[in-house]
Amino acid sequence: LTSVLRGMVFDIQPFSIHDGPGIRTTVFLKGCPLKCPWCHNPESWARAPQIAWDSHLCIGCGACETACPHGAHVVRDGKHTYDRSLCKVCSRCAEACPSLALERSGREMTVAETLAVVLADKPFFADTGGGLTVSGGEPLMQADFTVALLAAGLAAGIMAAVETSGAGLAKDMDRVARQASLVLYDIKAGPDDYRRLTGIDYDTPYANLSVVKKAGCLLWLRLPLVPGINDTQSHFANVADLAAKYHPQRIEIVPYHALGADKRRHFGLPDASIPARPSADARQVAQWTASLHALGVEARLPGED
Ligand code: SF4
Ligand code: SF4
Repeated sequence: LTSVLRGMVFDIQPFSIHDGPGIRTTVFLKGCPLKCPWCHNPESWARAPQIAWDSHLCIGCGACETACPHGAHVVRDGKHTYDRSLCKVCSRCAEACPSLALERSGREMTVAETLAVVLADKPFFADTGGGLTVSGGEPLMQADFTVALLAAGLAAGIMAAVETSGAGLAKDMDRVARQASLVLYDIKAGPDDYRRLTGIDYDTPYANLSVVKKAGCLLWLRLPLVPGINDTQSHFANVADLAAKYHPQRIEIVPYHALGADKRRHFGLPDASIPARPSADARQVAQWTASLHALGVEARLPGED
């Protein structure tokens, strides 16, 4: 019965080496209660499917206007307007667009369909300690699907991990962690800045960390760090406290990459609340590593041995 359970998936990425040990296939689910201003995947915020529109790829051909039964696209004198309030996300415009300026993000897939994609890469998993990682978005927003997919992965003989910020119900965190071999737990900011940066209080992610610990799976803490935004001493001190309390097997720094600004526009979202900035460089990463080391925290980069 669970194999026919449907989830809203926006990407499946094979050969990932940054989402847990070894070579992995990462399944990205839609829906996230956080709104981190540095998010690479703003299409993951909404649970519902969406149409991305990249104006730079548009050649003004008008095929979308002809295809749309709801009048959401208008192309006049080479100028294209897309009224999302009229869009029913039927995807006809994306199918008609010759230049990939329009693309659908988010597809309902069953557990069996999703697992079949993942298992295509099974030969690469065993030798590297890799497997399936369920990510997002926030997988706890689709807890039934996440639990079923993790269980199906384990039943198929592959290692099943989940990446979460812990922003969800404790009972969902518990059943997800009990089904996972490894939880990659993103700590986005310290308690002082968490709400300002993510839009939710720190209490739930903090409490759910102990839920994961009780579940007994492997635990890695992941720190997405953005220069000048969340790389504060109080955040690092809090990470040191969490490390001392929960003894994660590994702590990873995930350096900021300057992606995502255009993507926001493609989905009709407002610009981020933080000014554009360059990606974090090696010198910056070395400074963060040293700051954490000084607090007794040994942090590494994803994929680093
Ligand atoms: S997805 Fe469907 S309703 Fe929405 S703009 Fe495209 S054709 Fe129109
Ligand atoms: S079909 Fe694609 S390329 Fe043509 S006007 Fe619409 S968005 Fe632009």
